[in-house]
Amino acid sequence: MTNRLFSLFSNPSIRMTSVGFGDRSVKVPVAEIDGNRSGRTLLVTGGTDGDEYAGMEAAYGLIKKYADGDFAGRLVVVPVVNVPGFEAECSQNPMDGKFPKLVGLGNARGTPTDRLMRWLVETHAFKADAWLDLHGGAMTEGVRPFVWTFQTGVNEPDLLAQAFMRSCGADTALVERCGAGKAVELARQGCAYALVESGARGRCDAESVSRHVAWSEAMMRCLGMIDGKAVPRDPERVLSRVQYVRVPYAGAWHPADFSPDAIERGMTLGTCFRLDGTDQRTITAPVSGTGLWWKETMAMRDGDILIAIGSH
Ligand SMILES: [Zn+2]
Repeated sequence: MTNRLFSLFSNPSIRMTSVGFGDRSVKVPVAEIDGNRSGRTLLVTGGTDGDEYAGMEAAYGLIKKYADGDFAGRLVVVPVVNVPGFEAECSQNPMDGKFPKLVGLGNARGTPTDRLMRWLVETHAFKADAWLDLHGGAMTEGVRPFVWTFQTGVNEPDLLAQAFMRSCGADTALVERCGAGKAVELARQGCAYALVESGARGRCDAESVSRHVAWSEAMMRCLGMIDGKAVPRDPERVLSRVQYVRVPYAGAWHPADFSPDAIERGMTLGTCFRLDGTDQRTITAPVSGTGLWWKETMAMRDGDILIAIGSH
């Protein structure tokens, strides 16, 4: 790691907040920084997947950079949401095997991951004008840097998401229209949700980290929290659909040497087989498009995504 912010500073802005799961609790780091002028509120989260480090480093970097309060409004940063996953060095929460990003707005009476997300949403997301969720490739994944915004049918959050997408400087954007789900429910509470991806294979190289910081600051600019106008620069690729290629069974994966930039329908993505050596199959692309993230390691578990392909 080039950017060892974790151990290099102790920051009075960060409080360890106890989140209860019924009989147990977990301490989660939270920084709530008030700017020296009134304004809007941005929530930035890292480590929703516990092994995606570039976003966590960037989140700690933001806390350090803005701890002096020289901005308008309120910056709330949760640099490591999934603390149990972080400790276990995996994407999901080992307490119940769930991925926090997949439990929607959570449930205060559910499993630990449901409760963790409910706490985050109720305490912070519903009070924010925007929530930027910093992701990257897990330790097993390659990823293309991209921003993922949502058009929910709720005017103000949609306009903010659009402004962010067009001014953040990303080469690739996925703009998903949705009529239900997490982004819609958040939008109805006045919060624009966006998920951004940078940093492959769990790495936190300086470029991937600074991209997350730049995207966070682009959102702060869109919210009027910091000055300066971003030069509008539409992404080279604006995609509107994402299709997942999932593993056919638990077994072993041999990815082919393909370019994620130009995936053609029917192209070989890799081969797989069961661990007893049987059922060898070739997996081909179901659609043409752009690889957004893809599995680079051998182990295939039930439900794993081999590749996410974005298309128009
Ligand atoms: Zn992730």
